[in-house]
Amino acid sequence: MSLSDPLPQFVPGSVCVQCDVCCRFPESDSFLRPYFTRNEIEAAVAQGLSPALFSDPVGSQIALVKDSQSDGYLCPAFDPATSRCGIYAHRPFDCQLYPLALMWSEDGTAVELGWDTKCPFMREAVPAEIHRHAGLVQALLQRETTLRMLANNPRLIGRFQEDVIVLAALPELTDRLRLHQPDPRLRPLRLEDAPRMKQALERSECPGHEALAAYAFVYHYIWATTLSYWWMERDGVFFLFAHSPDGWFMPVPPLGARSLEESVGEGLADLHRWNHGSSVSRIENVTDRQKRDLAGSPLQWSDKFPDYLYRADSLAQLAGDSYKSQRALCNRIERAASVTLRPYTEADQPACRDLFRRWVSQKREGTLDTMGQFLLEDADAAHELIWAVGDRLGLAGTVACAEDRVVGYTFGYWLAPETFAVLVEVADRSMPGLAQYVFRETCRAARCGGAEYINAMDDAGLPGLRAAKQAYHPVATIKSWIASPLQP
Ligand code: SF4
Repeated sequence: MSLSDPLPQFVPGSVCVQCDVCCRFPESDSFLRPYFTRNEIEAAVAQGLSPALFSDPVGSQIALVKDSQSDGYLCPAFDPATSRCGIYAHRPFDCQLYPLALMWSEDGTAVELGWDTKCPFMREAVPAEIHRHAGLVQALLQRETTLRMLANNPRLIGRFQEDVIVLAALPELTDRLRLHQPDPRLRPLRLEDAPRMKQALERSECPGHEALAAYAFVYHYIWATTLSYWWMERDGVFFLFAHSPDGWFMPVPPLGARSLEESVGEGLADLHRWNHGSSVSRIENVTDRQKRDLAGSPLQWSDKFPDYLYRADSLAQLAGDSYKSQRALCNRIERAASVTLRPYTEADQPACRDLFRRWVSQKREGTLDTMGQFLLEDADAAHELIWAVGDRLGLAGTVACAEDRVVGYTFGYWLAPETFAVLVEVADRSMPGLAQYVFRETCRAARCGGAEYINAMDDAGLPGLRAAKQAYHPVATIKSWIASPLQP
């Protein structure tokens, strides 16, 4: 039995179709709505369910629909005419498990496997059979792939329910979840947390156009399939944490109106505990101003790659000798191809995916160092998220088309009222000048939208990218620091 093989169905199908409990819910926001992991959402969407039914493409409970025959609600995959699941072969693990259920114990210290007495069949089933089935499921739950999947989707573990009869405690799973969630106040970072982080950023007085691109929810969220992000709020301060294979770190300093020194001390104390004193504990993306405020703290500092900041006017016009080569490349595109730009829509997703794949293989044919390869591997999942939920992330997307074919796309966000940050830009590399053209047009659009500055992110330490960013003559580079506790 593996995650790619569905769990055996315990309740006979002939009994299920007679029942009126499963897949129906009394309230629209019932906590019993099935949870879909990222892969399960993709499979369900491929089967025809709307992506809009999932509040977060990284993993979420499905949105229910009104049942026209009752006061209740239905899973949208459920067909009331036949009483069957419309995506049965692709139904999520949460549904496969039923009528067994995973839940936290009453005191919240352990994960337990139980049987749900809400299922009428379970009231009549022979207990010996239930235990045999639970034994099979328990063996699956101890497998590494299952433990990893559950640790990445902790919301598959439900809250304690009195009407679920406990069959077994699951110590391996409990330990794995504690490792992933060493503090019960930690919450996985979800799309719905964007407003909360935005408010925290506003409270923390981030410094206008001097803000690092990292001072935005979307900057972190797009990597949520590569790293696991968590947050907690304490006394009005928002703490963002990330868990990598090496251990825990903070991608930005604590955000809030409280003393930075005090909240940084608290965040580092958490990291120290969770990392068992390992030197991986650190806070990234500390600004120059914050570094000065923390001068009295026992910290050691290293610098990260700075963000490049440009005057929007300069990039929109590309005037004068210093921009001669970029201007020539843009002119080449204007002469050679009729490229048009328009706002990105969800319908562009397949074309963007094709272009991204072409672009990746074009980049691999060129000279890419190890870091460049590494970034490309992770970029795939990030771009998928951007195409799927870019609008919900507050991203402005543009596609460039030549002869009705998508040849480029770009997404960015407003980092501050006067600063537009360019998050990703992909342009067909077989069209010389297209990348420069798309970038100039993006800057022109941002300028028209009121941008005085363009933040083009950092260069990730890649020499080619650094040369390209410097060739656009930044008005400033915005320092980014990493703070770590002083080692004894
Ligand atoms: S996905 Fe299928 S099995 Fe699960 S609740 Fe919906 S209809 Fe029922």
